[in-house]
Amino acid sequence: MIYFASDEIREFTEFISMPNISPVELYVIPGYDTIETTDGEKGLAVYDLENARIIVPEGLSKEGKKQVLSSIAHEYFHHIEHTQGKAHDEEKAEKFARRMVTAFEFAAVSDSDKRI
Ligand SMILES: [Zn+2]
Repeated sequence: MIYFASDEIREFTEFISMPNISPVELYVIPGYDTIETTDGEKGLAVYDLENARIIVPEGLSKEGKKQVLSSIAHEYFHHIEHTQGKAHDEEKAEKFARRMVTAFEFAAVSDSDKRI
């Protein structure tokens, strides 16, 4: 059997994807909790608006992996803002990320409830 190493990330991206928003590519870098951003700092994720791509580390610990989901939602929100010609709003991006991760976790719990 061959399986995709980041099933949770794939499921999460499907969960938060909006049909009326142009596509964005997601790159997951295995084996790291942080990545180097374009300004040379350590960061949790990057949204490269020129190439419409999001780059995140895979996350190592359980907390790290949860952070990755939050980072993906945060950067996806910036992508939505960008495609709608809006300025980046960090506070709104964080709120969106928290809401999406919570909703995803709740949906995952509901799904496993159905299997019992
Ligand atoms: Zn941001």
